[in-house]
Amino acid sequence: MLTVNAFGAPSATEPLVPLTIERRPVGAEDVLIKIAYAGICHSDIHFARGEWGPISYPQVVGHEIVGEVVEAGANVTKFSVGDRVGVGCMVNSCRECANCLAGEEQYCLKGNIQTFGGIDPKDGNVTQGGYSTHVVVDQDFVLNVPESLDYAAVAPLLCAGITTYSPLRHWNAGPGKKVAVVGLGGLGHMAVKLAAAMGAEVTVLSQSLSKQEDGLRLGASHYYATSDPATFENLANEFDLIINTVSASIDINAYLSLLTLDGALVAVGAPAEPLGVQVFTLFGNRRTFAGSSIGGIRETQEMLDFCAEHGIVPETELIGADQINEAWERVLKSDVRYRFVIDTATLTGAGA
Ligand code: NAP
Ligand code: ZN
Ligand code: ZN
Repeated sequence: MLTVNAFGAPSATEPLVPLTIERRPVGAEDVLIKIAYAGICHSDIHFARGEWGPISYPQVVGHEIVGEVVEAGANVTKFSVGDRVGVGCMVNSCRECANCLAGEEQYCLKGNIQTFGGIDPKDGNVTQGGYSTHVVVDQDFVLNVPESLDYAAVAPLLCAGITTYSPLRHWNAGPGKKVAVVGLGGLGHMAVKLAAAMGAEVTVLSQSLSKQEDGLRLGASHYYATSDPATFENLANEFDLIINTVSASIDINAYLSLLTLDGALVAVGAPAEPLGVQVFTLFGNRRTFAGSSIGGIRETQEMLDFCAEHGIVPETELIGADQINEAWERVLKSDVRYRFVIDTATLTGAGA
């Protein structure tokens, strides 16, 4: 067992506090990673506050992890001590079901093991996430992080990057395709960068025009405020693909009406409340309403390599442990430009 410093939720309602947690011993297939940086995803907040259902506490969240391998188990062949690696939202899966065999472990039919809040099959304990100094992970769920990508900025690719890359690829974003991104936060800004790099014509649909300059700089060709009803009239039947990254419930029918013939609106934002779809909106233009969850391990590596090839990293604000609670409040106010990343060297543990 390794006792490590972390920062986590004591309950659904209290601010996060410094903690120490135990990591399982490094098994034959495991690597011990010294975490350098951990991104803050809106899912951390939904989960820790029990918005998706009750959880056990204390809980350390964080699933955008980059760091260095400091120990490798006897059977580890994929990584060596000193490698720069990443861990995303999953740390294991059954590896036997049809979806796992297809390389889509995120859709494991027995349920993948989440980086935080899952039950670790190796020790039976609740998994604890990346707001900590070290983590022990099976080598099959560890990614190579290309050295050319800025170390302090790269962590959010492990969730925000893959969660937007996967549907953009699946629904063939590319030259000749009009892609709209709803919400310019952590996921949204990655969707804009990635879709633009794939060659699509990108439009941002944000609550206001306050981030218009940023949206265009990130790679969008167009930017509209959804607070203006004219946006929905002017853009009716316009898009081949809409990626909805909004963390709250929105009027989904208004957005579905923006899809062209055979267009698809893909939900990646995860509000707890149901979205009320009118089937008649789907009948028009033979529209599809779909969802997408992160991405498989093979595709996550493909995304990291794509980002290295295109020089893509998230836009980040680096913070210390003492700023994590404030950063969460800023995420909730859509005041994030565009991802907070924790410098884990500032985690001092319980009693600090
Ligand atoms: P974020 O940084 O907070 O971005 C969400 C954006 O949504 C905000 O920046 C804001 O953009 C817009 N927004 C927020 N509240 C809104 C409201 N009431 N009405 C309209 N727009 C609103 O969050 P994130 O980390 O990107 O995560 C986004 C969502 O994706 C979360 O629900 C998260 O849990 C989910 N998620 C899902 C997956 C998956 O596998 N499917 C993976 C990761 C995250 P504007 O200011 O531009 O309007
Ligand atoms: Zn996430
Ligand atoms: Zn499986």
